[in-house]
Amino acid sequence: MISLVRLFDTLKRQVVTLEPVDGKTFRFYCCGPTVYGPAHIGNFRTFVMQDVLRRVLELGGIKTKHVRNITDVDDKTIRDSVAAGMTLVEFTEKWKNEFHKDCSALNCLSPHVEPSAVAHIPEQIVMIEELLKKGHAYESGDGSVYFKISSYSDYGALSRLDTRELDLGKTQNQRANSDEYNKDSLADFVLWKGRRPEDGENYWESPWGPGRPGWHLECSAMIRKYLGETFDLHSGGEDLIFPHHENEIAQSKCSCGGEFAKNWFHSTHLLVNGKKMSKSSGTLYTLSDLAQDQWTPMEIRYVLISGHYRKQLNFTFESLHAAREALSKLSKAAEGRESPSYRSLLGLVSYGVFDGARQKLTEDLNTAGALGEIFANLKSAQSEEDWKGFFAVIAALGLVLPKIEKTEVSLEIQELGEQRWNARQNKDWDLSDRYRDELLAKGWIVKDGRDGYELLRQ
Ligand code: AMP
Ligand code: ZN
Repeated sequence: MISLVRLFDTLKRQVVTLEPVDGKTFRFYCCGPTVYGPAHIGNFRTFVMQDVLRRVLELGGIKTKHVRNITDVDDKTIRDSVAAGMTLVEFTEKWKNEFHKDCSALNCLSPHVEPSAVAHIPEQIVMIEELLKKGHAYESGDGSVYFKISSYSDYGALSRLDTRELDLGKTQNQRANSDEYNKDSLADFVLWKGRRPEDGENYWESPWGPGRPGWHLECSAMIRKYLGETFDLHSGGEDLIFPHHENEIAQSKCSCGGEFAKNWFHSTHLLVNGKKMSKSSGTLYTLSDLAQDQWTPMEIRYVLISGHYRKQLNFTFESLHAAREALSKLSKAAEGRESPSYRSLLGLVSYGVFDGARQKLTEDLNTAGALGEIFANLKSAQSEEDWKGFFAVIAALGLVLPKIEKTEVSLEIQELGEQRWNARQNKDWDLSDRYRDELLAKGWIVKDGRDGYELLRQ
């Protein structure tokens, strides 16, 4: 059975039902990481939300095709690879591998296709040629090519340029050729950047001379190749709405035609301790920063899904503590039950008492609401059907429940425990007390029951 998913669409500004254009597979694209350093938990808020969307679709019985790119050439990757004395490929490969490790630690499903910008230079050149031919682009005289935003009348529909106060006066003359884009001004943007001395050996030949593609172009070219001219959904963090996604729409619609993305999905930015994440405040936390304080990737994932993707989410150490406690409660509730495989849960029809949790997810990906529903119904879960529903919601959220730790008791402590128990059975209270004190001195408490005893860590 297919259960439909509804989601807020950034372009239509309303919650819409997601249905595959081709009636078979839900095909979606996510702007991926720029691989010049470790991804931070803010990046992962967006990647985890995209992962939850995919899981909810798949568990609802919908097949997906997930494409997420790797940005392996831009100002930052070039600058930092040169500083590290590595080739661009060596440098970006290293950070791509780190990114993959973090994704799997966070239990994110791998995209079906993960194309990189460097591997798609010819496709990007073809797109520029088409834009030039159709009058949407121009050469600037220094080996660069720019997109002319005044040639596309719908420019700005996604980010509502008409209602925002931007530096609109300079539209025709100002050009932006930096990959570090400016969110407050409107400018023709670069499609091909003529080679500059600081690029070193990182350039490719083109009809306009040596250079490299501008950052916005890679997504348009790779989407066309792997998803076609019209596809189901495009996604990223809210910072990408303008200008990156606006520019992608302009490039793609003007070169290929088609509808481009039918739906748009953006997550709000993660805050840390109530503030914007920043290098200067030391809050660009990575998984390995947090692992140093013994926080697990699952605890981090739990925090990242604990708020609705359209609401501001504040990451704090208290929220990590709460996540640890919540995960442990879930583990204890499900103790002794085998978690079914992800595959076996696809298309599950009945979620038993956890149907409310499923509905929270299918209605605009309300992860916070789903967690609330899980806890509210834990006590009433009884039947096999209920427990299958439980594991399906846990799988939709992408959580892996921690194993309940059995405290290791050394042989010496076990023997002391036994001797004390025997002394007690023989009513030798003095001896039994001595053993109890000895155990206490070694950090163990004895709790007696009617038919036996338990050794607990002090
Ligand atoms: P980047 O590697 O900078 O291209 O970013 C990768 C993804 O992370 C993009 O979808 C960004 O929009 C997203 N992103 C960056 N910072 C944050 C943040 N603080 N919270 C949520 N998403 C973010
Ligand atoms: Zn993109």
